[in-house]
Amino acid sequence: MMHKKTWSDYSSYFSANHLIAGFTNQYYPYSSVIDRVEFAKMLKLDSRKIVIPQQIHSSNVTICTKAGNIIDTDGIVTNNKDLILSIQVADCIPIYIYDYRNQNIALVHAGWRGVNLGIIENSIKRMKELDSNSIDIKVLLGPSIRQCCFEVGPEVGKLFDNKFQENGKGNRTQLDLQGVVIDKLFNMNIQNENIIDIKECTCCSDRYHSYRRDGDKAGRMIAMIGWV
Ligand SMILES: [Zn+2]
Repeated sequence: MMHKKTWSDYSSYFSANHLIAGFTNQYYPYSSVIDRVEFAKMLKLDSRKIVIPQQIHSSNVTICTKAGNIIDTDGIVTNNKDLILSIQVADCIPIYIYDYRNQNIALVHAGWRGVNLGIIENSIKRMKELDSNSIDIKVLLGPSIRQCCFEVGPEVGKLFDNKFQENGKGNRTQLDLQGVVIDKLFNMNIQNENIIDIKECTCCSDRYHSYRRDGDKAGRMIAMIGWV
């Protein structure tokens, strides 16, 4: 069955003229490079200027100065308004970051590994290297697996504070990774009113691909942000 390819438009959360932020739904079968070009065109962004990180569940965040592939990085930051930032996710948290004073933007792929290793802190640090101040930074957490579905074993649970976990089956727990991320943002002096959590679970909503739900056959969603 053919479905129309649609996306969620998060641009209005940033209320910045000419800043476009989008997120595909499950009817994008897989986020190959061709899909990113097509998605950029749907968003009216310049499809020749896409930055594509090779995501490895690290805490690496890279300041980008040109379009194309970037190896070994899960976060990309830029002050170049010609560049279009993209990542792919299927349960990990797509984090959109915008500094409304300096107009720096970032896009971060945040799973439990990267969050544990410090990708949230590194992202804000990189923004500050481009002269951002915490007080000017807006952060949006996109659709991702949430506590309702995110059961983890004790080896993962022990990496995070108990206050972000509820008891699950046996010795397993349900982890609130979005809560962990928001707590880290508070610690980096990001203001509560500048944090937007979309609060949609990729695993229990059939709008999205989910690795936890669909395993190796899961597709990916594309997150994209850039200027028109
Ligand atoms: Zn869920």
